Amino acid sequence: MEKNNLAVANAVKVIKRFNFKSPDEIDFDEIANTDSVKIIYDYLKSALGKIVISSGVAVITISKDIKLETRKRFTIAHELGHFYNERGFQVNDKLSYTCKYDDIFGNYSRNGREKNANDFAAELLMHTDWFVNFTKGKKFNYKLLKDLSQYFNVSLTSAAIRYSEIGQHPTASIFIKDKKIKWTVINKFFKYKFIRINSNVSNLSYVNDHLNGKEYPTEGEEILAEAWFSEDFNLKNRNDRLFEIVIPFENYDSALVILLSK
Ligand SMILES: [Zn+2]
Repeated sequence: MEKNNLAVANAVKVIKRFNFKSPDEIDFDEIANTDSVKIIYDYLKSALGKIVISSGVAVITISKDIKLETRKRFTIAHELGHFYNERGFQVNDKLSYTCKYDDIFGNYSRNGREKNANDFAAELLMHTDWFVNFTKGKKFNYKLLKDLSQYFNVSLTSAAIRYSEIGQHPTASIFIKDKKIKWTVINKFFKYKFIRINSNVSNLSYVNDHLNGKEYPTEGEEILAEAWFSEDFNLKNRNDRLFEIVIPFENYDSALVILLSK
């Protein structure tokens, strides 16, 4: 999935303008106070975040029901994404978004403006330079994923997707809902490319075990490449293996899978 360059540039601009040097320096209050944004916490029916932009001034409402700090941060960053990406082109003087879980965390590829807000959020929270510096020379595994999530104060899922986008080790992130493959981020170093969207998860995979309530290796385990890439014409050796890490979601019908290849 291609990043929206403008959204990424907008996030970099914020980082430079506020002179944030590392993830722990990101200060939402400072951003909000400087740029006429008000951030409030309130009850939101079935949404995580909301933004109303009017005459260049914005009110962001974040759901009081969000318990996870990482989710709260990503939601604020997402709403700021709407603000910086779109404040310039309000046609009717008022622009408003109510962002649900799927807009921010589930439905990664759809709806241009939601995706652009996510691209902004990913760049703001996990700025490319910081991410490359942090991962340089490190082997990708479950431990690195945990370290990334801690350092950037983001969920394991966000860290994994980001790694698939800009990490140096061959990785693929695959989002699964209702036992079907919904979207993938496969980086350029990964040896297989083709997974059919909306196909069923193979019963050879560990994520299938997890989704069926069975035990699965929490820090990952080797798996036959065939379990994921049986339709890829690059798969010539049926014994070829990948490494599969399952990241369960809170809502038990979804999961993220990270695959590593050599
Ligand atoms: Zn949104």
